[in-house]
Amino acid sequence: MGQIARLKGDGDPAVPAQFDGAHQIVRRIAGAAALAALALLASGASGARSEEGAAPPAKSVAKSVVKSAVKSACHRSAFRVVIDVGHTIDSPGADSARGVPEYQFNLALAGVIKDQLVEAGFDNAVRLVTTTKHLAGLVERAARANAMHADLFIAIHHDSVPNNLIETWEYEGQKHQFSDRFSGYSIFVSPENGDYQGSLAFGHLLGMALQARGLHYTPHYTLPLMGRHRRLLVDAEAGVYRFDLLVVLRETRMPAVLLEAGSIVNRRDELVLETADRRTLIASAVSAAVDDFCAARTRPAPTAAAPARVKPAALVQ
Ligand SMILES: [Zn+2]
Repeated sequence: MGQIARLKGDGDPAVPAQFDGAHQIVRRIAGAAALAALALLASGASGARSEEGAAPPAKSVAKSVVKSAVKSACHRSAFRVVIDVGHTIDSPGADSARGVPEYQFNLALAGVIKDQLVEAGFDNAVRLVTTTKHLAGLVERAARANAMHADLFIAIHHDSVPNNLIETWEYEGQKHQFSDRFSGYSIFVSPENGDYQGSLAFGHLLGMALQARGLHYTPHYTLPLMGRHRRLLVDAEAGVYRFDLLVVLRETRMPAVLLEAGSIVNRRDELVLETADRRTLIASAVSAAVDDFCAARTRPAPTAAAPARVKPAALVQ
């Protein structure tokens, strides 16, 4: 996350410093998240797409059959997804364990995601590249997405660690910083976003789609050693954290998430994250989650002919 997290934590006077005061870590799926996710799951709008990426597990294949009718509800060409490239070329975020700027990882992955979305029929998908640095650049990203009337905003980042966890090593004669302690993706949402419920629902779908492809999330943001970078885990199944202060999430009107695709200061993970295979795998998860989310958002309202709901247990004699 690098620069964006630090901007919010340290230098942004417009941001109240209230969040990290609440160091109460609760491992639960928030009630709202569970309801939203369940609504999607009940519609069959979950699981991996069988036609893309790595071979999905058998249960996902079964789900894909169930959801085939739902897919048609999504007007992919009309559904605009903004893929925001985290950081800028001049302010590129953290360096990887081998000295490659985070921005390069973000730019490449966002490109593969955008291409795969377009290939799947989301013709209006946009890769958003910003050159304005610092807070003005963050505000600009949200403003551009709002002006485009985007339906979904996904900020792409690659993770590092707080300075107190950094170690140094030598690679090709140069000293670099690294930390091999943590591994995995993480997803962030903000309750100050214009559509928090939508953000939670998409975050859930994205996390489950990544896990269906063999990836896992990192739980380390709940640990006390993270200090002011500690976050509330609001969806412990999918790996979605609450991070109130991210400008790109709080200023966007449409559902928005920030994806940390993996840790580039982890020396082993960096080598995987720079491969075309991993980028394609992550992009297939994003594309599947977007498709499910679009279908859930655009499915027709239940009609009078719909089957009656099951009575709550308390009312069953
Ligand atoms: Zn970042």
